[in-house]
Amino acid sequence: NRRVVIVGAGLAGVQTAVALREQGWRGAVTVLGEEPHQPYDRPPLSKAVLLGKADGSAFDVDFEALGIELLLGRRAIGLAAGSRVLETDAGPLPYDHLVIATGAEPVTLPGCDGLPDVHVLRTLDDAERLRPVLTGQREVVVVGAGWIGAEFATAAREAGCRVTVVEAADRPLAGALPAEVAAPMAAWYEDSGARLRTGARVAAVTEGAVTLADGTVLTADAVVVGIGARPATSWLAGSGVELSPEDRSVLADERLRTTLPDVYAVGDCVSFPSARYGSRLLVHHWDNALHGPRTVAATIVRGAAEGPVYDPVPYFWSEQFGRFVQYAGHHAGADETVWRGDPQSAAWSVVWLREGVLVALLAVGRPRDLAQGRRLIERGAVLDRRMAADASVPLKSA
Ligand code: FAD
Repeated sequence: NRRVVIVGAGLAGVQTAVALREQGWRGAVTVLGEEPHQPYDRPPLSKAVLLGKADGSAFDVDFEALGIELLLGRRAIGLAAGSRVLETDAGPLPYDHLVIATGAEPVTLPGCDGLPDVHVLRTLDDAERLRPVLTGQREVVVVGAGWIGAEFATAAREAGCRVTVVEAADRPLAGALPAEVAAPMAAWYEDSGARLRTGARVAAVTEGAVTLADGTVLTADAVVVGIGARPATSWLAGSGVELSPEDRSVLADERLRTTLPDVYAVGDCVSFPSARYGSRLLVHHWDNALHGPRTVAATIVRGAAEGPVYDPVPYFWSEQFGRFVQYAGHHAGADETVWRGDPQSAAWSVVWLREGVLVALLAVGRPRDLAQGRRLIERGAVLDRRMAADASVPLKSA
C-alpha cells in the first residue's frame, strides 16, 4: 500500500488529495497541515470573513469518505529524501510520494515583531485578530497598495474605519500593472473615503503610529502590512529540493516535479517553466492552486513521465472598492495595450497584444470580456486592434 504524503492543507494540498482519489489512486493519502483549523479557503478572509458576514470558509470536502487522513496542527520541519522520510514536529512520516504544498507566508516589516497592533492577513487566525479592528471602527494604516491592501482597505472602509494606505511606489499595484492601467485605480481609494499616499516609505512603526521617511507621522490604532508573500520553503533547507535563489520558490519542471525523485510541488510555493510564456512562473493565485493539483495527481497515478504538462493561462480576480477586477494571461512591458471602454467609468477592460496575438486581459466589471478573452488567450488568437477597442462588441479573433 503506497503512501502519498502532502505537506500543507491549503487549497493546493487539499485539491491534490481530492484529485488523487478522483483519478483512481488506491494507496494511502495523508495531508499534513500546520494550522489547527479544518482546511479552509483564503479569498473570503479579506472579504466576507473579515467583515463577519461569514464565520469561516472551510472546504466542502468529506475527507473521511474519501479516505484522506488529515494531520492538523502538525508542521513539517525537514526532509530525509534518501530514506523517504518527512520529518515533522511530532515525529517522522515515511512516504512513497511527497507533495510540497506549503503555500506562501507574508513579508513583514522589519522592527515590527512583537508589536501587538501590527497585522498581516494570510490565515484565519489573522482575519479573526483583525475583526475587532473593524467592528471597533479603529483608525488603520495599511502598508502596501497591492491586492491584499486594496481588499483590506475596502472591508475596513465598509466597516467605517478611518483608513490610510501608504505605498512606496507611485501607484497601486505597481508590481502587477503598468502605470497607465493602474492610474485610474488610485481614484478608487479616495472615492471609498480611504486616503492613498503613494511614494511613501515607512521609516518606523511604533505603538500607535507609523512614521514615514519624509517625517510624516500617521496615527494608527492598527497597522496592516500587505507588502507581498514569499514561498514557505525554509523548512526545505538542506533537503536536496532545489529552491530558486531569487524568490525561494521550489524549482519544478513542467510536470511540477522537483529536483528529487517522487517529490512534487504545487500552488503558491513553486515556480514552473511555461513554454507558453517562455519564462518561469511563480503564481500566487487561487486558480493556480486549484488546477496544478490535477497535474500532480495525474503524474503520481500514471507514472512520472506520463502525466500532463502544466502550462496554464494564469487567472485571478480581486474584489475591491465595489468592483470586480479580473486578470487572465501574462503580459510584458513591450506588449501593446488596447483599451475597451472609459477607465473613469464603472466597467472597462484592457487587452494586451503581442504582434496582434492576445496575451493578457484585465477586466473591471466586465466578466464577459474575461470569459471570452481567456478562451482567446488559450487559443493564441490574433485580434483586430480596432475591433478589440470597441467595447460594444464581444471580443473575437480577427
Ligand atoms: P496556502 O493557501 O498558503 O496553504 C498552505 C498551507 O500550508 C497553509 O495552511 C500553511 O499553514 C501550511 N504550511 C506551511 N508550511 C508548513 C509546514 N512546514 N508544515 C505543515 N504545513 C505547512 N487569489 C485569487 O485569485 N483571488 C482572490 O481574491 C484571492 N484572495 C486572497 C485573499 C487572502 C487574504 C489571501 C491570503 C490570499 C488570496 N488569494 C486570492 C490567493 C490564494 O488564496 C492563494 O493563491 C492560495 O491560497 C494558494 O494555495 P496554497 O495551497 O498553495 O497555499
